[in-house]
Amino acid sequence: MVDFALPEEVVDLQKLAREFAISEIRPAEAELDAMRDPEAAFTSETYRSVVKKMHEIGLHKTTVPSESGGLGLSGVASYVIEEELAFGGTGLASRALIAPIGAAVIAGSGIAAKHPFYKDYVEAFVEDTEGKHSGCWAITEPGRGSDFLEIDGETTFSTTAVHNPANGTWKINGAKAAWVTNGWEADIILLMATARPDMGMEGTAVFLLPGDLPGISRGRPLDKLGMRALNQAEIFFDEVEVPEEFLLFDAGPAYPMLLEMIVTGGNTAVATLAVGAARAAYETALQYSKERVQGGKAIFEHQLIAMKLFDAFRDIEAARALIWKSAWLMESNRPDLRISFAARSMACNMAMRVTAEMVQVLGGYGISKEYPVEKFYRDVKLLQIMDGTLERISLTAAARL
Ligand SMILES: Cc1cc2nc3c(=O)[nH]c(=O)nc-3n(C[C@H](O)[C@H](O)[C@H](O)COP(=O)(O)OP(=O)(O)OC[C@H]3O[C@@H](n4cnc5c(N)ncnc54)[C@H](O)[C@@H]3O)c2cc1C
Repeated sequence: MVDFALPEEVVDLQKLAREFAISEIRPAEAELDAMRDPEAAFTSETYRSVVKKMHEIGLHKTTVPSESGGLGLSGVASYVIEEELAFGGTGLASRALIAPIGAAVIAGSGIAAKHPFYKDYVEAFVEDTEGKHSGCWAITEPGRGSDFLEIDGETTFSTTAVHNPANGTWKINGAKAAWVTNGWEADIILLMATARPDMGMEGTAVFLLPGDLPGISRGRPLDKLGMRALNQAEIFFDEVEVPEEFLLFDAGPAYPMLLEMIVTGGNTAVATLAVGAARAAYETALQYSKERVQGGKAIFEHQLIAMKLFDAFRDIEAARALIWKSAWLMESNRPDLRISFAARSMACNMAMRVTAEMVQVLGGYGISKEYPVEKFYRDVKLLQIMDGTLERISLTAAARL
């Protein structure tokens, strides 16, 4: 029997996340969005303060297992919370989504004992009430964007990892793209690098390493159209010597399976960000339409406006239902890349359409900075590209039909 009811503790957390989104994320995102210099934005008191508050109430560790001090959310529950954060703003919601990646991998795969850094990191991350710690996933490169989705292909990354059998260490060289979420501040990096070029994508090795190893440096935070509250930056690796304990998976057939798992979860998450942003635009426009009077009545009373709002309501509900199905499949250990990519494609296209229509509902006020709808519209454009363009993910999913 399919059941859409959420457990009481998830409903409580959903309420907490929604209140935080409205009272803290929304105003902080508006301020950060207006700052012209991204570096100034990410060193500002506004940024530090909202990230600190997010950590204080535990929203940075939703997906870290509870045995390690996290909130232990998985499946539908984690996406429910993510939607609420994105309702406040997709930039800070994305930070919260990706920040726990290092701690969650260490705690979830039981590798804490492999190296003292791992054990110390998980403890420091779950207890971090300052917002000092966060992780990132570095896969795409300036010259290798969509190519990361050539899951079983011949493509290789230009970032290389060379093993030294004499002492077991690895030497890493290369650069990851300016779009790496949290790339500017992450202190732990999940890195994909080519260790065996002769094996194509299967020749990719996966490392989980401290972000401050000698030879690692960052570009400036990316200046961009939307999601300006999210720090993104290039990461450079120059002769970085990595102890063998930081190798998570060596090159081999496990890589395509691991990547498939990551992109299935990741694309469902990006879909969730889209639903949160679309809902934020819809709720703003709905309220506005009941207050704004034209033609002698509230514009909501004009059928064409009511129709736009109903269409938005319908499409948001449908996109969320598909996300929940994808999340439920993952929770039941039956992750399905096609359903995840269908949810992502539907939700992101829906959000682009809905946010544009909600700008239209507000008329001239829709494009004005006085209302947040124009920002939701700009933010959503990035979600059609994040974690694989919609075109490229659709091709991957289509090949599985
Ligand atoms: C908000 C955001 C967050 C991101 N976060 C991260 C992150 O955390 N870590 C990380 O490593 N990367 C991240 N990225 C990078 C992201 O994964 C890439 O931008 C994306 O995969 C596309 O690569 P590209 O930008 O190089 O575009 P390209 O691959 O150059 O694509 C350009 C165009 O060509 C099309 N195209 C490309 N290949 C094909 C093909 N085979 N068939 C048909 N059409 C094709 C694309 O659809 C697109 O329209 C992020 C990006 C954004 C926008």
